Amino acid sequence: MTKLDTNGKVLVAGAGGFIGGWLVKSLLQKGYSDIRCVDIKPIEDWYQVFDETENLVLDLKNPQAAKIASENTEAIYNLAADMGGMGFIEANKALCMLSVLINTNLLIEAKANQTKKFFFASSACVYNQDKQMATDNPGLPEEDAYPAMPEDGYGWEKLFSERMCRHFSEDFGIQVRIARFHNVYGPSGTFDGGREKAPAAICRKVASAKLSGVHKIDIWGDGEQTRSFTYIDDTIEGIHRLMESDFQDPINLGSDEMVSINQLVDVAEKIAGIKLERNYQLDAPKGVRGRNSDNTLIKKVLNWAPSISLERGLGANYKWIYSELEKQVK
Ligand code: NAD
Repeated sequence: MTKLDTNGKVLVAGAGGFIGGWLVKSLLQKGYSDIRCVDIKPIEDWYQVFDETENLVLDLKNPQAAKIASENTEAIYNLAADMGGMGFIEANKALCMLSVLINTNLLIEAKANQTKKFFFASSACVYNQDKQMATDNPGLPEEDAYPAMPEDGYGWEKLFSERMCRHFSEDFGIQVRIARFHNVYGPSGTFDGGREKAPAAICRKVASAKLSGVHKIDIWGDGEQTRSFTYIDDTIEGIHRLMESDFQDPINLGSDEMVSINQLVDVAEKIAGIKLERNYQLDAPKGVRGRNSDNTLIKKVLNWAPSISLERGLGANYKWIYSELEKQVK
């Protein structure tokens, strides 16, 4: 295990986003004293902003911006991408693929700066779609990304960028860490506007029903499609553990508690203490039929795996979204 120097300069790309914001908070808690936060969004739109960090608004698709962002860094965490839930990625394939520029620019700068470690946020969307045709998915081991047939657009970008990391490691000796996130959720993230993912969307719909008294919910698809959902605290813990490890290949960082979307709604209803009439929107984007994380490798390599239950994590997410909606109503 190689620990990073907490006095070294660290770049968090996408720091204004959901996972980036929590990562910066946690790095500060761990004593990192020189953190550069970068995002394309205006600072007032960042989910979390910290006075102790250097905060820059830059478009990392631009090579010059990536140069400024990466200067003198000992570690780079690349969490910047144009992304969203199924509704967004199915309708914005070109935009999703353009995130390849961000990772490419940052890798080039990591090489120039002799950055010690480079983290890339990959996704379960890299997995071959043929392996995700049934709801009872036994879990996707890392090798199931090949032969390559990932999610169109977004998944191809992630798979290509994973390989770019691998080749920068092989050819230039950059230490890379690549986590395949599986549906991360939690407070201080996107819950409306079209980029939200299923847990936030369901919490929002259930909280709106609770607030309005209209006890109905729209569900995309027949609700039988399955996924696993990873609470943000597990994701952040996994990122730190992976960075401290010597493991350079892509690795699943996700919960293996697989549920159907109907079961996800059951949990949200239980938290809210209501029952809703379900309206299934069969033409809405639904993604693959079944997906789960296989955690054999992460247990072996990190001696750890995500463990926060959906009920516990969704409780915290629901509470936050409910309070945000309440503020909008007042
Ligand atoms: P997010 O959208 O909240 O954060 C991404 C941030 O990147 C945003 O704040 C966005 O403004 C920023 N960004 C986009 N383009 C940029 C650019 N050109 N220059 C600088 N910043 C730019 O998403 P998130 O959920 O925090 O995801 C973080 C990373 O994890 C992304 O790479 C995403 O693809 C990956 N991921 C997330 C999930 C999940 O469930 N949330 C699952 C798999 C992979």
